[in-house]
Amino acid sequence: MRMVDSEGEGPPPHYELKQNYLVNDSDKQFNILFINDGFNAHIMYISEVEALTGFRYCNICHKQTFRIGDINLQQSMRNHMKKCQKNVGKIVKKVILEKFAKPFVPHILSNMTYKYLLANNFTHLFKPTRYYITYDIETLEKKVNEKFGDSSQVTATLIPYAIESTVKLACGIHSFYYDIRTEDFLDKWLEQVFEETKQVKKDNKYIDETITQYYEVLVIGFNSAKIDASILFKNLKSKD
Ligand SMILES: [Zn+2]
Repeated sequence: MRMVDSEGEGPPPHYELKQNYLVNDSDKQFNILFINDGFNAHIMYISEVEALTGFRYCNICHKQTFRIGDINLQQSMRNHMKKCQKNVGKIVKKVILEKFAKPFVPHILSNMTYKYLLANNFTHLFKPTRYYITYDIETLEKKVNEKFGDSSQVTATLIPYAIESTVKLACGIHSFYYDIRTEDFLDKWLEQVFEETKQVKKDNKYIDETITQYYEVLVIGFNSAKIDASILFKNLKSKD
């Protein structure tokens, strides 16, 4: 059984295969269209999948799709079905190894400074990143109870109300802080972070400029992977 669901609103309608069930290993097709307007759900039988979806499906695996308007339709179907026949409709993944084996040394190859120092026999000059910026955002919950479809609901969103940062430099440590009482406080904070990075970058630099090096400045967040980053991304597109 196949379930096809509509995606998005307004023309042109677009339907996607959502579920594909095999009943007792039978390869008979039964296609239904599932339509949901928020209150009522309709299930309709689809007599011709191709006309509805604009896709032709592989006769063997019933999974691979081909756009009907595609000029290479015949060719790509033939190519796929040749493979599909060999694998009896199963998708086979192959690992392709590189021609020449390379040593697995990410600590060397992913750090251009270390790579350079090692190649020139200067590894004793290598130094860790000592200066950086940290930040933490405080948020509060705002109840919204918005519905998305019939199966998901957002009960609350997080609103940032304060942000604080600490900068570690060669000359010492200092902090700064912005909160919701300041207008556009996240933009103001970002502005200052970019300002502070100039000094951090200077302090982290290798004095010998012939050494290839990154001019990246680490800005470290606390518990920030999911929430904070998404809040800040909105502000990153600011004019500067
Ligand atoms: Zn196939």
